[in-house]
Amino acid sequence: MTNPVYARHWTNWGTNQESVADVLTPASADEIAATVTETAAAGRRVKVVGSGHSFTDIAVADDQRMVLHRMNRFVSIDGPLVTVQAGMTLRTLNTVLHGHGLAMPNLGDIDAQTVAGAIATGTHGTGLGHGTIASCVEAVTLVTGLGKIERFTADAPELKAIGVGLGALGIITEVTLRCVPAFTLHADERPMLLTEMLAGLDEWIPGNDHIEFFWYPYTDRGQLKRNNRVDVDDRPLSRFRGWLDDEFLSNTVWQGVCKVGQRMPRTVPALNGIAARALSARAYTGPSAGVFCTSRRVRFTEMEYEIPRAALPEVLGAFPALFDRLPFRVQFPVEVRFTGPDDLWMSHGYDRESAYIAVHQYLGTEYEPYFRAVEELCAAQGGRPHWGKLHYRNAASLRPVYPRFDDFLAIRDRFDPSRIFANAYLNRVLGE
Ligand SMILES: Cc1cc2nc3c(=O)[nH]c(=O)nc-3n(C[C@H](O)[C@H](O)[C@H](O)COP(=O)(O)OP(=O)(O)OC[C@H]3O[C@@H](n4cnc5c(N)ncnc54)[C@H](O)[C@@H]3O)c2cc1C
Repeated sequence: MTNPVYARHWTNWGTNQESVADVLTPASADEIAATVTETAAAGRRVKVVGSGHSFTDIAVADDQRMVLHRMNRFVSIDGPLVTVQAGMTLRTLNTVLHGHGLAMPNLGDIDAQTVAGAIATGTHGTGLGHGTIASCVEAVTLVTGLGKIERFTADAPELKAIGVGLGALGIITEVTLRCVPAFTLHADERPMLLTEMLAGLDEWIPGNDHIEFFWYPYTDRGQLKRNNRVDVDDRPLSRFRGWLDDEFLSNTVWQGVCKVGQRMPRTVPALNGIAARALSARAYTGPSAGVFCTSRRVRFTEMEYEIPRAALPEVLGAFPALFDRLPFRVQFPVEVRFTGPDDLWMSHGYDRESAYIAVHQYLGTEYEPYFRAVEELCAAQGGRPHWGKLHYRNAASLRPVYPRFDDFLAIRDRFDPSRIFANAYLNRVLGE
């Protein structure tokens, strides 16, 4: 977020969403429950916002915005089960877990999100042995739209809905996560031809703990990243190499390249060719959170689609023709990740092995025809859009791809009968 949390005017990280609303900053579940009761009695609405890292209008408040930055503390630990307040960021969570000799089994690209915000949209990393981050949730304390504080544990069927709850079922105050002993990752990153990467996937996806790749549009090149657990942290990345690759090249230089491409779009294919050829291989070890998450300072707009894993070659194969049809150039690499099935009703990975295709455009660059064209390709394969990233689907088109869609709506009717947690996004994707 670019504004202070208490400002009435709010924008998301991507600066493509904004709102003006009354701001509420509760410090306890009781305070939240009282606010919810008053909100319902007054016929008003309240939307809780995390770190504002969603690109969709899922976190846009049109009446009252609740911020949980005062509810960001560690609560308790019981073996691998760690309970924290919902407003804690993943970055703080990682530090807390490290202090207890624990870690999250998997993470996405960044750690700026709040715990509740990350699980609400189905935030995920990569790895066939992992579902979304929400699949690690063992229990949740939630203030429902009736103003009741309720705790749901693993045996409660409601947890399957609350896990990836889209902020539609209530305000989460505490989350219990099933963590794992702290572990070291060996990262192997290398440039590779797209054809080689696609040919190797069937072997590499099950053969590596975490695997993803990037592909530069208008080129046949990309970068393959494989992270695997190892016993010893004997090959740390030098501070200089870390700074060079992750700060200077991925942020400072990339920002400059994006600006050139934005001003002179005809140079984009050549710039992408240079960027792809400039990639060099590196291998290092480090504590898991530091390997999973990097800083992303170059701002962009993003859409990400989950598709059944088997559909990936066909969908990616259609991209070059798609790029040729667009009235503009695409500069950002296409990112591809993989997860295993989970059982959360609104998880993109519900009940199937998934490939995720993420497409981006530099902030301020046109994107809609690109994203719509990719959506068309993915939707034809039964694809599910990431709830926190731009898409153009509505409830009628989403119901068929989520087998438990109506069960989720039934829980919503129970938990939020007056729709005090609704906003325009939820009206679109769930109905009113
Ligand atoms: C640079 C960048 C990198 C990203 N990388 C990844 C990635 O690797 N993988 C991935 O899957 N996604 C990724 N995302 C998307 C991001 O993880 C999700 O959009 C996530 O939901 C953002 O969390 P947040 O705390 O900012 O939540 P917000 O965007 O502020 O809110 C998201 C939703 O959570 C709800 N919510 C927040 N707090 C609560 C609460 N206490 N109770 C109930 N509901 C709540 C909000 O109402 C809203 O519905 C990335 C986004 C950016 C900008």
